[in-house]
Amino acid sequence: MAFTLNGIDACQITLPTPIPDPYWVAFSPSSAGLVNIDLNSSNLPEDPAWLALLAGNQLLTKQYEFSNPIATAYSGHQFGVWAGQLGDGRAILLGDIAGQELQLKGAGKTHYSRMGDGRAVLRSSIREFLCSEAMHGLGIPTTRALSVVGSRLPVLREEMETAAVCARLAPSFIRIGHFEHYSSLKNITRLKELADLLIADHYPHCQSAQEPYLELFRNISERNAKLVAQWQAVGFCHGVLNSDNISALGLTIDYGPFGFLDYFQIDHICNHSDHGGRYAYHRQPQIMHWNMACLASAFLPLLELKHSENDSQTMLRNALQEFPLTYTDTWQKLFRAKLGLQTMVEEDILLIERLLQALHDSKVDFTSFFRELSDISSQMPVKDISLRNNFIDRAMIDEWFKDYLERIKTETSSDIERSSLMKLVNPKFVLRNHLAQKAIEMAQQDNYSEIQKLMTILATPFNDQPQHEDYAKPPHPGENHIEVSCSS
Ligand code: AMP
Ligand code: MG
Repeated sequence: MAFTLNGIDACQITLPTPIPDPYWVAFSPSSAGLVNIDLNSSNLPEDPAWLALLAGNQLLTKQYEFSNPIATAYSGHQFGVWAGQLGDGRAILLGDIAGQELQLKGAGKTHYSRMGDGRAVLRSSIREFLCSEAMHGLGIPTTRALSVVGSRLPVLREEMETAAVCARLAPSFIRIGHFEHYSSLKNITRLKELADLLIADHYPHCQSAQEPYLELFRNISERNAKLVAQWQAVGFCHGVLNSDNISALGLTIDYGPFGFLDYFQIDHICNHSDHGGRYAYHRQPQIMHWNMACLASAFLPLLELKHSENDSQTMLRNALQEFPLTYTDTWQKLFRAKLGLQTMVEEDILLIERLLQALHDSKVDFTSFFRELSDISSQMPVKDISLRNNFIDRAMIDEWFKDYLERIKTETSSDIERSSLMKLVNPKFVLRNHLAQKAIEMAQQDNYSEIQKLMTILATPFNDQPQHEDYAKPPHPGENHIEVSCSS
């Protein structure tokens, strides 16, 4: 069910602003399947009304009518500072289809646009589209992308660009910032309605808990702890982990200046505007925890409905302490799996940490290292392992490989079994910046074939796809200086 609370501070009926002469830039048949849209032989919607609908130019298809599109209010902390009211400044929620909310990003001004133009540019819409679908392919919780519709409408950013509308799907677009909004306004009625709605629609098992709101908090926090561990395991940097960009369902949401690590750099900053490195790769877990602390503060009045201030604080503080435990447990499981270790030995953690340090010191490509590690045989002499050639300190990495080979010999699985399990968790393909950039540059020349190709490759990133070997490679030296900032 859509988040359709009434009232000036909750949400506003907002019609999309039409764009001139819309055209398809990208369309995801996989997302279309999620909401039962019939497709033609070109894998586009059979009903031509969908193009106008996903452009924000009309609200009707043969199958659906969206009569009450809304923009919602939320507040939040941006770069660690309370920013007050933000809200859907350029996203309009059309309504529900098949258990998913359909939202148009870049569909024009809303009540919450502040100084913004309500638009998104082609470049950032393609990045959001491709990464949403790539994350889904990786098995990481995310909002989905249905389409990108383009227009010649000019949009001013650092330079003049053109507009696009990205259609997104999610069971709910509720964010941590929605809770912070009502809590900061001391609007406990709305805060409670929001929590009750989330429980009823998405966390029904919390209903029967002794403390439903505390249980809801624990569940949201747990999902986000697991999510950030999954990001770390594939080298994904979100770029803008403000509390308004954190989903109440634990989905990856609001793709902006994100980036996948090419070579491993523990303190990599993907967002060019993030001068202090607040959202650097190694800080993401701690920042997500910090965002959960914001959520805990917002939840305080809900617990105080039944308990004293002191008791409520204690309960939430204790619940918040579960985050690092869940995160660490998930991170260790994921990295053990990346190394092909099914059993658990305490020394494994040191083995993982030593490897990450070596990858960092020698700037080794993160994705291809783990993929190629999947092909190593436990009987191989260390000197024959070609991966060692990627490291500057050969003696150190040889020592690591020696310990690693010894460790995998203690596993009961055969080399073949281990290799196939490792290939299920170590992707061959991720949406590297230079790949997205090539697709964008071609689209800016009206050629959308590369988007289609990337979408197809990244839908099954764990498959070998030998015909697409080039897409697995790290960027050439000249290609890895693509700067992505908040401007989109
Ligand atoms: P973001 O950094 O993209 O998560 O956006 C932060 C806030 O700014 C959100 O409230 C967005 O809706 C709003 N915003 C970003 N870009 C625009 C825009 N072009 N027009 C209106 N609001 C925007
Ligand atoms: Mg945002």
